[in-house]
Amino acid sequence: MTKQIDRRDFLKVVGAASVILGYSRDARAWVTEEGGGHGTFDRVPRLEGVLLTDAASRAAKETDLGNIIFNKPKAVLRPGSIEDIAKMVKFCAERDIVVAARGQGHATHGQAQARAGLVIDMSSLQVIHHIGNGFAVLDGGCTWRQLLEASLPAQTPPVLTGFIALSIGGTLSMGGISGMAYDKGVQIQHVLELTVVTGKGKIKVCSESKNPDLFDHVLAGQGQCGIIVRAKVKLVPAKPLVLNSTMVYPDVHSLQNDLRTLVYRKELDSVYAQGVTDPATGAFVWLLNIASFHDASTTPNTAHLTRDLSYIPGTLSTNDIPYLDFQLTVDNFIAFLRSIDRFDRNMHPWYDAFLPDSGLGAHVDEVVTSFQADDVGSFGFVLIFPLLTSTITRPLFRLPEEELVYLFDVLTARDEPGYDADFAANKRARNNEWFDHARSLGGTRYPIGTLDFTPGDWRRHYGREWRAFERAKEQFDPRNILAPGPGIFPAGC
Ligand SMILES: Cc1cc2nc3c(=O)[nH]c(=O)nc-3n(C[C@H](O)[C@H](O)[C@H](O)COP(=O)(O)OP(=O)(O)OC[C@H]3O[C@@H](n4cnc5c(N)ncnc54)[C@H](O)[C@@H]3O)c2cc1C
Repeated sequence: MTKQIDRRDFLKVVGAASVILGYSRDARAWVTEEGGGHGTFDRVPRLEGVLLTDAASRAAKETDLGNIIFNKPKAVLRPGSIEDIAKMVKFCAERDIVVAARGQGHATHGQAQARAGLVIDMSSLQVIHHIGNGFAVLDGGCTWRQLLEASLPAQTPPVLTGFIALSIGGTLSMGGISGMAYDKGVQIQHVLELTVVTGKGKIKVCSESKNPDLFDHVLAGQGQCGIIVRAKVKLVPAKPLVLNSTMVYPDVHSLQNDLRTLVYRKELDSVYAQGVTDPATGAFVWLLNIASFHDASTTPNTAHLTRDLSYIPGTLSTNDIPYLDFQLTVDNFIAFLRSIDRFDRNMHPWYDAFLPDSGLGAHVDEVVTSFQADDVGSFGFVLIFPLLTSTITRPLFRLPEEELVYLFDVLTARDEPGYDADFAANKRARNNEWFDHARSLGGTRYPIGTLDFTPGDWRRHYGREWRAFERAKEQFDPRNILAPGPGIFPAGC
């Protein structure tokens, strides 16, 4: 493996300055042609894709949508095949180089970063291999939007996230929730099979019946035990139209009463709520959003679906819209934010916690009454998603121990683009404080957001699953190189 430099033996030429020849264990650095390539080095495997060490490629992967944590990788892989990923993970494991898969980089606290390591840009593999009756097989780097556009008009994933430009591998590493999940379970419940590259660089297929230990520790596994390179996910018949209604509640308690009623009735296809400031009064109110999917021949009965609810009279508003338009609501808003440069460069210190039914009201009151003007921001959101815990069987998706729980998100967006150290410090401290309150009520973390967790916090988070998770990590990533971002298994442990 160790070889003297051979200047003709280049891997790929990706711009004059970026020919990577190998890796020097002594210097703990990639050896590039530009750097002269003196001394001995380990030759990088032959790849179908490209390995990049130029400043622009590394800078593009040093942060994420949070724009709060910055860890510059030493190299970026744009794989041309699953085998490229396996080869490079093996190469890195043998040299203790940390590796993070990056889908769309939309987690907000360094989750997809690898300081001084290798970031694998999963977006270079985005092939939908097969759409069958009731399932699709596609690359982990595909987005849910790509899948939806390919599977419609006949089929749809049973649960989509609110924003669907997220990667398959990224949301399956977290959970994947929206208003559609409340009675069906989050996206990780709708996976039939995964192809995974483990931390040893082995390509393995897993499912509920094949390598179930790997399957259980990859779904919602935050990339700790393997990289999802391909997934077989469920599809269900799609309906062309959505009857979508909103109604206003003055406070979280009246909203929660009706959320409970609607969840247990199980008559809706989607239910969630958004906290908004009423422009007329300046009051913070809740907008309940319910949806029923239907064919052109059968319009759902809004009066029936909203019977006995206690929203503010006169605030019910209903629209009948195409299914794809409904699923693209958030994507279209984000396209607008991008058009005015208020998304990718803005800081997003997101707060995301699951609360038990018994604790939601107290926690939301505590948080909302403390809001400063910049706690949500002009382009942020406050959301509540109900979820029945009986729908969840995947062990690493950690939820409060009640039958009904809610994801409560304060998706803060700083108004102006660019980094502000005081804002970062202030909002990190705020999130940590809010989460302490949530946890005192039995809350758990949804790990997409911005929270400073110690290894002890993670052990507590995984609770009775911790030992099995630790064992899986030892088995599938024994060099502890995968997904260092969340700090679950810090180096040296
Ligand atoms: C505008 C917006 C709206 C959102 N809406 C929702 C929502 O409605 N519901 C919801 O559940 N979430 C939502 N999220 C959060 C989102 O699900 C997570 O941030 C998710 O991780 C994003 O996917 P990604 O492709 O950007 O992942 P990244 O941020 O790139 O990665 C996240 C983590 O997953 C790991 N990872 C990425 N790809 C792979 C892979 N192929 N194999 C193994 N590990 C991998 C990374 O290493 C990292 O640890 C939203 C985010 C944004 C920005």
